[in-house]
Amino acid sequence: MTTKEYTRCLIVGSGPAGYTAAIYAGRANLKPIQYCGPQTGGQLTQTTEVENFPGYPQGVDGNQMMLDLREQAQRFGADIRDGEIVKADFSRKPYLLITDNGTEIETETIIVATGASAKYLGLSDEQKYAGQGVSACATCDGFFYRKKVVAVVGGGDTACEEATYLAGLCSKVYMIVRKPYLRASDVMKKRVEENEKIEILYEHNTLGLYGENGVEGAHLVKRLGETDEQRYDLPLDGFFLAIGHTPNTSVFKAWLDCDNVGYIRTQAGTPKTNIEGVFAAGDCADSVYRQAVVAAGSGCMAALEAERYLAEHNK
Ligand code: NDP
Repeated sequence: MTTKEYTRCLIVGSGPAGYTAAIYAGRANLKPIQYCGPQTGGQLTQTTEVENFPGYPQGVDGNQMMLDLREQAQRFGADIRDGEIVKADFSRKPYLLITDNGTEIETETIIVATGASAKYLGLSDEQKYAGQGVSACATCDGFFYRKKVVAVVGGGDTACEEATYLAGLCSKVYMIVRKPYLRASDVMKKRVEENEKIEILYEHNTLGLYGENGVEGAHLVKRLGETDEQRYDLPLDGFFLAIGHTPNTSVFKAWLDCDNVGYIRTQAGTPKTNIEGVFAAGDCADSVYRQAVVAAGSGCMAALEAERYLAEHNK
């Protein structure tokens, strides 16, 4: 039998945006229901130290921070659940959401805070060697590569952070960077450039991976398409992707205005989407800043807007 529920406020996602929305909605007595999504705690659970969230002068472990936010939301009555929203119907009111175990939830307001997921290069070898040398999370899988040789693809802050982390475990870390420079912030750049274990391979692309039982190396090309193009194989034990993210908005795309990548479009300076009572917060609606503190702030805004909407509609 299908379980049917009703709530005034449903929050989807459990990163800094989702939990902050739950804290505010809980304190406003909206009794929010929150579905955590496939990765409880979101992307910060895959990072090590968060050094730039205000209020933690010594930094804070990403996992711990998310556990603290969860506890804080629960303290104010948020009903936090494991599971995913797999279907949405915004053509009717209350809005209808269906969970992965078939529960139907009617809600007056919804806060979409589904975050973003790591991107892959699109090589068939990434699938072939998934869990056998290919990873998009150094802090999750780095442990398996102690004293081994690995590569990190990408030249942004994430790639630098992952490379630095891996350098603490591995004997050698290559960074495979397609441009002749790193895109990362100066402090992160300096950190990798000064690390003896890290070697940056500029103007390099990956053509494929090889290995009998798991990754044994990568087929690389330097200066692809140029007259001095050079192809060679680089022996490796692990291959880590750090090339950016895709917003997790597929469930809502049919209803909500999104940009061409899939980030939800909100009305300038607000978390309001094109559908009243539906708000977006955090990385699923932010292709520019993508910071935990920004996500938390937008989660707060979404909850305040949900509260206002409910009051205006006498719900
Ligand atoms: P970015 O988009 O900043 O960087 C992605 C990197 O991957 C770029 O070097 C890009 O190359 C490269 N790349 C993308 N696609 C490919 C491809 N197909 N093949 C090869 N290389 C590719 O993403 P990040 O995840 O690094 O950062 C996202 C945001 O999060 C940024 O604003 C960043 O500052 C922030 N951040 C902050 C941290 C902190 O403050 N502690 C930690 C991590 C992230 P190219 O430059 O050529 O486009």
